[in-house]
Amino acid sequence: MSDDRSALDPWSRGEGAPREVMRIYLDNNATTPLAPEVRDAMVACLDRCSVGNPSSIHSAGQEARRLVDRARAAVARCIGARPEEIIFTSGGTEADNLAVLGAAAAGARRRVAASAIEHHAVLSPCRHLADAGVEVALLPVDGEGRLDLDAAAAALDAGAAVVSVMLANNDVGTIQPVAEVAALARAAGAVVHSDAVQAAGKVPVDVGALGVDLLSISAHKISGPMGAGALYVRTGTRLTPLVFGGRQERSLRPGTENVPAIVGLGRACEIAAERLEADSVRLARLRSRFEERVLETIPGAVVNGRDAPRVATTSNVAFDGLEGELLAINLDLLGVAVSTGAACSIGDAEPSHVLIAMGRTPAQARSSVRFSLGRDTTDDDIDGAVAALRQAVAALRGGGR
Ligand code: PLP
Repeated sequence: MSDDRSALDPWSRGEGAPREVMRIYLDNNATTPLAPEVRDAMVACLDRCSVGNPSSIHSAGQEARRLVDRARAAVARCIGARPEEIIFTSGGTEADNLAVLGAAAAGARRRVAASAIEHHAVLSPCRHLADAGVEVALLPVDGEGRLDLDAAAAALDAGAAVVSVMLANNDVGTIQPVAEVAALARAAGAVVHSDAVQAAGKVPVDVGALGVDLLSISAHKISGPMGAGALYVRTGTRLTPLVFGGRQERSLRPGTENVPAIVGLGRACEIAAERLEADSVRLARLRSRFEERVLETIPGAVVNGRDAPRVATTSNVAFDGLEGELLAINLDLLGVAVSTGAACSIGDAEPSHVLIAMGRTPAQARSSVRFSLGRDTTDDDIDGAVAALRQAVAALRGGGR
């Protein structure tokens, strides 16, 4: 057998290997680089604990169970929950689906409500419910991307079983008034869910202070692995599972646990909690630097949602008269990774539903690009990205060299 490790590693060289041009990564809302501490924890788990099934009674199984429990406690601590209120899932999408579909199925009412700027992981289950005859209210936002609380109150008064409002939006970063919605929901007897996938690790997330019944997080948005997430389920909340099988995760998400990924999620939560304050202060400064320079030096640039409270990582900018997707491709060629919206809608000709809900025209929405900063972003990255942006915009507007 060859001892050339690259022969075992399809990505290390040859066809299909990702190009090595990426120098500046500003697409952290799509996914974050795996933190070295998370990788170490996952590798240690794979090395030491590769045989035990957490449901087995022997010691290998019990070691796996111990790791899952430790991760559960870390996730719970990070969001102010109790460990038994954490249900591990395959990620944010599954957590959102379980919340919306599971709460709708468990309730007697045939009505659900969600903000119009939710991620597709919430909107698509809502659409599925609508196809099955459930009344779905999509709650509007203002021009800055903040939820209309009167519309939320009206939908709850009308008797919604569940209301879903994200804590921070993935496209523009606006923070939503989730605690206010939860207070309204409580008074109206509705279950309240919040997708905190883009908020965790960026702003404090405390399920008690928010007053939510259900809350989703995803590991790969907080420097953890892809394919792991969790749904917080407040004790006493009625939820119908989406899959059926064994007794894992209190039968709400049966199936043998993905132990290394769960360990990665737990470790990512520990690190996010430790670094939350320092990271958010530093990133807020970097984001301001980025936006000031862009607005000063690029004519026709407008920051979407600039006047609303936003997570420090996200800057969504419209470039008058340009195609955002073309600009993103040109930036990629210059070594800067950005996105025009949700990663799962790449190649999708539709403009961002978030920007449309904020009242932008389809052309304005299509001219927008999302820059999302992360723990590894530096001052040099910001300066390099602005320089590349100026070059790309000038080229696309016909003035470039
Ligand atoms: N919710 C929001 C707000 C997101 O940004 C994403 C991913 O982009 C998801 C849910 C889906 O999470 P996952 O990729 O873990 O399925």
